Formats: sequence, structure tokens, C-alpha cells
Amino acid sequence: MNRRLIPRHFLPGGHSLAGHGRGSGWLEPEPRVTLPALAFHGRIPYLGGMIDTPAFLDSGRPAVPDLVVPRGVLPFYLARRPVRGRLVRLGALAEALIGRHDHGPAVSVLLGEALALVAGLATALKFRGSFSLQIKGDGPVSRLVADCTDTGALRGYVRVEAERLAAALAGDAAPTAEHLLGRGVFALTVDQGPDAERQQGVVALAGPSLADSVQAYFASSEQHPVWLRLACAQTPAGWRAGALVLERIAGAGGVAQEMDDAAQQESWHTATLLAETLTGAELLDDALAPEQLLFNLFHEEAVTAGRARALAYGCRCSRQRLSGILEGFTPAELDEMSVAGTVEMTCEFCNVVFPFPRAELTGRQA
Ligand SMILES: [Zn+2]
Repeated sequence: MNRRLIPRHFLPGGHSLAGHGRGSGWLEPEPRVTLPALAFHGRIPYLGGMIDTPAFLDSGRPAVPDLVVPRGVLPFYLARRPVRGRLVRLGALAEALIGRHDHGPAVSVLLGEALALVAGLATALKFRGSFSLQIKGDGPVSRLVADCTDTGALRGYVRVEAERLAAALAGDAAPTAEHLLGRGVFALTVDQGPDAERQQGVVALAGPSLADSVQAYFASSEQHPVWLRLACAQTPAGWRAGALVLERIAGAGGVAQEMDDAAQQESWHTATLLAETLTGAELLDDALAPEQLLFNLFHEEAVTAGRARALAYGCRCSRQRLSGILEGFTPAELDEMSVAGTVEMTCEFCNVVFPFPRAELTGRQA
């Protein structure tokens, strides 16, 4: 294996995710997708970032899985071809993340595909912090958030308008992502903490599937072509989700120096045709080793696997962290949030409610 053929760092999409789509006039003015704000209706959605306390030290953590999938993402490249990619398989992590919610099959598939997608894009990036996908639409699924840290900690949630979803499912039991999300915006964000500028790109949702929006994202920002297949399904072993991502990488002076532009384009086209033969069942088959799957697809193209990356259950909500947030409110605000003497906070990612007796909270002095 010639590791020198792998450029040491690349962003899916070039250099920066900042500013894509801004000022181009084809989006609503100043499209911004932000994490939902705290709501004051008894239950407060907690959507904070990661904390550094290792899970085994965090006694206030809810009973959520400490699950690591050691080979969740397998990077690969095609030798002397302008193509590289990642194979993502969440394995049991899909069940652990999706199974915490009771959204029904259609929405669960959407969430699982989004989780596999962020894992497949984040693991191509050099960053410290979190990489997130956020979708805000006018459909029955009004919000979708999935994020993955540089260490592979993965989490996600969707907000569902139950009545509208029921109506949509009555007309079509297996609606497309487009039917679930409606019209809206699709944002990818790299957040490297308070000391670094947040990089965000936003495009309009496009096409029937999540994959269509991703391809629109990369196309709109004049980045290299991306091909991807997402899959999520309920199997006898539980929910499974996966992704295959291919990217066409730098041409002249890149990894395929001996190819002219036409030959590089032909080579990219061949790789996507081979990838098209991948079925969802193969992508989600735990018994089919990732290297074998890649070999089956690309053995004529000298596929070479890189070093596998781990994925893990990624939420680190805890009583300590949430009580710290509550102590930032004034006593009057805490009184307002309190229902029957209790303030409840909900981690939307884990679907865990944390009740705090109002009497145990002091609050910030206004
Ligand atoms: Zn949580």
C-alpha cells in the first residue's frame, strides 16, 4: 500500500465549508439553521455540545449505551485513480441510536441515513470538534440534526409533527425524504469550539432523497463530484444503517498523474457505475466484511483500504451538565419552568428526561 498516494488532509468539499451559497441569490436571505433554543414549557430540550468527562467517570449520565463500533468507517482509495471514499457501517450503533426513539419506520430510516451520512462526511475532515448536518423543513419532520465529532461520537434526533406525519403516512407508508422534510434548508457545519470560526454551508433541500441534497450541496459549492448511497433498514438484528461515499479528487498533479482529464473523467465514471451495483442489503449486511464488500465492487480498480475509524454512541448529557445549565437561569425563570415543583430537561438525542426538584436549584442572581 502506498500511503503517499493519500493526501494528508482533505475536506469533502475542498477547503472550507464556510460561506457556501451565500450571496448567490437562490436561497432565502441569510439562511441560518441553528440548534433549537431552550423551550420553557416544563420540558426543556437539551441540545448542548460534548463534554470532556469520560463516560466511565460520569455518574450522572443516563443509562445510555457505551457502545463503540471499532471499524465503523473504512476509508479507501482506488490506486492510480482520482477516486477515494469511505464505507460506513453503523452496525449495532444504528439500533442503539435509532432505537431510543419511537418514530416509526419511515422517520427512523431518515434518521439512520442522516447518521450514516454525517459519519461518512465527518471522517474525511481534519478538524477538532463536531461536524453536523441540520435540516429545517416545512414537512412533517420539521427538524433533523445529526452530528459526529472528530473522535467518531455520533448522535442524532428528529422533531416530528405527529398529526402531519400520520396524515402523510396514510397516503404513503414509505414516503421519501422529500415528503417527510418538505421544502427547507440543508446545512453542514464544522464547529471547532469558541476559539475558532464556525464554518457552515447551507443549500436548499433538493430532490427526493437525502443523497440528492448532499450532491446538490457539493455541486453548488463548485467542489469535486461526490457520489453516495445511503441505506437504513430494520433487520433481524435491529436497525442498521450504512453509507458508501465516493469522491473524485484532484486531477492534474494529483494521484492519477498519468491520466489526462478525459481519462480521469472516464475513471470516475467507471467507479460510480461499479458503485451503483451496490444494493442496500449488501450495505447493511453485518456478515459481509467491509473489505470484502469493497473488493466485490472495485477489485478491477485496485481498491486499497485505509485505516478503519471507530464510531461510538455520542451523547454525553448528564445530570451535572444539565443542572449547570439550569443554574444559569434566574430563580424567577426557574419558577416559570417548574411544573408541580419539578423542572424537567429532556435530552432530545437520548430521549431521556431529567427531573430536577425546583427546591434543589438555586439559580443565578439577576
Ligand atoms: Zn443525551
